[in-house]
Amino acid sequence: MSQQVYNFGAGPAMLPVPVMEQVRDEFLNFQGMGVSIIEISHRAKQFEKVLLDAQERFRQLTNLPDNYKILFVHGGARMQFSALPLNLAGRSASKKCLYVESGNFAKLANKDAKAFGDIQVIASSADTNYDRIPAVDPSMIDQDAAYLHVTGNNTLYGSRWQTFPETGAVPLIVDQTSEMLSRVLDYSKFGCVYAGLQKNLGPAGTALVVIREDLLEYASPQTPALLNYKVCAGDNSLTNTANTFAIYVTGLVLEWLQQQGGVAAIEKINEQKAKILYDLIDGTDYFRGVILPEFRGTMNVSFNLPSEELEAKFLKEAGEVGLYALKGHRSVGGIRASIYNAMPLAGVEKLAGFMKEFESKNG
Ligand SMILES: *Cc1c(COP(=O)(O)O)cnc(C)c1O
Repeated sequence: MSQQVYNFGAGPAMLPVPVMEQVRDEFLNFQGMGVSIIEISHRAKQFEKVLLDAQERFRQLTNLPDNYKILFVHGGARMQFSALPLNLAGRSASKKCLYVESGNFAKLANKDAKAFGDIQVIASSADTNYDRIPAVDPSMIDQDAAYLHVTGNNTLYGSRWQTFPETGAVPLIVDQTSEMLSRVLDYSKFGCVYAGLQKNLGPAGTALVVIREDLLEYASPQTPALLNYKVCAGDNSLTNTANTFAIYVTGLVLEWLQQQGGVAAIEKINEQKAKILYDLIDGTDYFRGVILPEFRGTMNVSFNLPSEELEAKFLKEAGEVGLYALKGHRSVGGIRASIYNAMPLAGVEKLAGFMKEFESKNG
């Protein structure tokens, strides 16, 4: 028997084991059809049921109001960085779109948007190496803007918005890629939320986009059909061949989440997991967190050791005991433990045990 490996990778990330087992078990013969889920038409009634089921489960899990559409859009999260201004900048006569820069993906989001609108960064924490969520108060939000975009959880650093800014009539758009369904949120506060599937939902390459219906009316005429949210909503995400496999796996992950007790239940476990690691970091000078404590989320725990040599040794020895993919993002360095919904408590406990032992041997 090979040893149990815990995958702390940031994305693509681990999926729940029971989901992987079900995918394996029915891979060659989907529901007695004698063919695989990846071999049937996206317009087959069996796939249509998969899609509608996934959307319904998402709606139940989030208590999503009826006036929101759930879309599966090609291109992962980053494609939405362009799709958002294409679809929504037209809400403002001057195409003014507001962004908060709280990390690497937040920065990319406004960079990609620049081709399609008058992009204004109203707050940034770049000057303190993204160790916090920058303060935003309502007076900073121009009510003539098309929208305000924020990154819910900053994947490289582990910081998150504990509460989202009040935006008045300006729709709030949240990139939830690394925290989708990890905590209870009131979706009626959002104009649009979206996530690449590969962190908390399923395979890479597709994004789940949730958008309020009244926001479907502003797409620029240049918007490619496959990025046009109104077209996508009208075709229920089947404008062309959808990523059927990704949607199928996502549906199973959503079913698994319901079996765990839903978002409130997983949120409790996520808090417990993050607390184990942050308590350990707070109890020693040996491990140093990269963000200020009041901005900590529960999905990505990023920290440093006293030297790069020790970090290299830590990663090597962690790998040898089955703690996989703990290396921090190439632009930040250090260690990052991504502990998404699918990471069991036992994986976090094993990592904490390894950290304590490493400190006592190398401290
Ligand atoms: C991973 C990530 C992305 C990029 O996702 P892709 O699907 O690779 O485009 C964007 N935003 C956030 C917050 C992420 O964590």
